[in-house]
Amino acid sequence: MADSKRDYYEVLGVSKNATDDELKKAYRQQAKKYHPDLNPGDAAAEAKFKEVNEAYAVLSDSQKRAQYDRFGHEAVDGSGGFGGGAGGFYSAQDIDLGDIFSSFFGGGFGRSSRQKTGPQRGANLKYGMTLSFMEAAFGCERDITISKEDLCSSCKGSGAQPGTTPETCPSCRGAGRVQQQTQTLFGMTMVTKACPMCSGRGTVIKTPCSACSGKGRRKIKKTLHIKVPAGVDTGDLYPIRGEGEPGTNGGGYGDLYVEFRVSKHDVFARNGMNTSCDVPVSMTQAALGGEIEVPTIDGTIKHVLKEGTQPGDTYTFNGKGIPNKTNPSMRGNHTVRFVIEVPTRLSDLQKAKLREFESTLTDRNYVKRNGFFAKIKNIFK
Ligand SMILES: [Zn+2]
Ligand SMILES: [Zn+2]
Repeated sequence: MADSKRDYYEVLGVSKNATDDELKKAYRQQAKKYHPDLNPGDAAAEAKFKEVNEAYAVLSDSQKRAQYDRFGHEAVDGSGGFGGGAGGFYSAQDIDLGDIFSSFFGGGFGRSSRQKTGPQRGANLKYGMTLSFMEAAFGCERDITISKEDLCSSCKGSGAQPGTTPETCPSCRGAGRVQQQTQTLFGMTMVTKACPMCSGRGTVIKTPCSACSGKGRRKIKKTLHIKVPAGVDTGDLYPIRGEGEPGTNGGGYGDLYVEFRVSKHDVFARNGMNTSCDVPVSMTQAALGGEIEVPTIDGTIKHVLKEGTQPGDTYTFNGKGIPNKTNPSMRGNHTVRFVIEVPTRLSDLQKAKLREFESTLTDRNYVKRNGFFAKIKNIFK
């Protein structure tokens, strides 16, 4: 899996802010050290060599490097993740504008540089979906339209005009690979490459499909119905298997990942599965206590405010938070914080009554205030 991969900077032995020259130098050193020609039959060296090449392929491409810095291996891995290339990653604006920041990456470096001739799985795709707070909390259903490469429906991806069939490549005689003398960093070597005439397929097309000009692929738009589970949060990826791009040489389809972004709510805040909100109570309600209504994501519920509630006092309702996305019967907690609202624009009569009331209060009515003034006295002793 992508997660178990070593950090590319670590692989090359450079710092995160290494310059292009430093990268190149480090790459040359490492590549030389582990080059298969210099370590014949050494599988460990070969693995290292691949790792080094992979790291350099990503870090030497400023766009891929930026993606890697931001998203890690997933962002640039050609086989399991979101390959780099056209499209790029989304920004907040993209989502606000059209909800789509789909990065329909052709290939990924893995496909283009490794020149494999076997089946290659198609690229994974990513679709950004902005959800309201409540949609994320309780789940929802959405239709999304993605545009992606798919096999040409006319030639079923073969690239050959319907009624004709691809023919065996005369250059490689169907093998898909050829031996070629190549100039490398270490001099001339014989390398096995994908056949340039047939791009490793082993077949060539005499009469290209007119619908796709022989590419075997066409851009399509596809609408998918998405059931968003309850409890998803910003950054969560929801995989839809097989809805990525088609593979090559018989490789399967990649996957589509829907990445969620949850909008803020006017009243509720969210931290994982827990929710919270402020509840304004009047000075009198706080002093006397009594039944009040408190908002939760399920609606308002009755709560008996305790007598002498202080500003900032909280109360937690267990199980009234966000459902767990894998087990919706489990829910987080909801904490309310009481905010005491001081009345304004009092009439003369109201002011008089308050002054009259104030005159009846003694120190024993104000526990915190007495403690506070006691502390102040200690400061100035
Ligand atoms: Zn076609
Ligand atoms: Zn060929």
